[in-house]
Amino acid sequence: MEAAEGGLNITFTDHVLGRPVSVRADLLGLSAGMRPQDTDELASIMKLARNTDGYLMEAHVKLRPVDMAADGVYVCGTAHGPKLITESIAQAYAAAGRAATLLAQSELALSPVTARVTPELCAACLICVYSCPYGVPRINADGVSEIDEAMCRGCGICAAECPAKAIQLSWYEDDQIMSQLDGLLEGVM
Ligand code: SF4
Ligand code: SF4
Repeated sequence: MEAAEGGLNITFTDHVLGRPVSVRADLLGLSAGMRPQDTDELASIMKLARNTDGYLMEAHVKLRPVDMAADGVYVCGTAHGPKLITESIAQAYAAAGRAATLLAQSELALSPVTARVTPELCAACLICVYSCPYGVPRINADGVSEIDEAMCRGCGICAAECPAKAIQLSWYEDDQIMSQLDGLLEGVM
């Protein structure tokens, strides 16, 4: 930056062009840098995704810009990234609207595709507990894994990981998959 007649000459690196750019300006306003704080513990407890800078990350930047991947959790303001107050307010309106949409329902329809544990087969190895990205399975008072179907997102990871084959995913059970494969291969073999 250097003084010029009636203003300033400012040179900066344009991160899109990847090269220095010079502009003539009347005024230069600098905003203080921001770093996310305290998001790691919250993200760990709530199983929330964060970007590489540590800010909370929405489920989809265009289709679900204030929804987190976890149902019923919404993000706005500087928890999401550095932004102006006007942007934070607009995003807060959007998040409140999304939350109101959920709360206005007298009943919630859940997906029928959820994982279920057969307790007799469970060896309490904890693999499902650690592999579930949403933190759903837990070891219950009987010492076996238990999955709350209201919280399960039906991703199937625990069913694939369980070494004892104690977990089945509704509508995608092993027998159903094998029957489909048999039917498919019957026509080609
Ligand atoms: S991975 Fe299978 S055997 Fe291990 S705790 Fe979970 S349900 Fe039980
Ligand atoms: S199906 Fe996915 S979301 Fe459901 S308990 Fe298993 S790993 Fe977790």
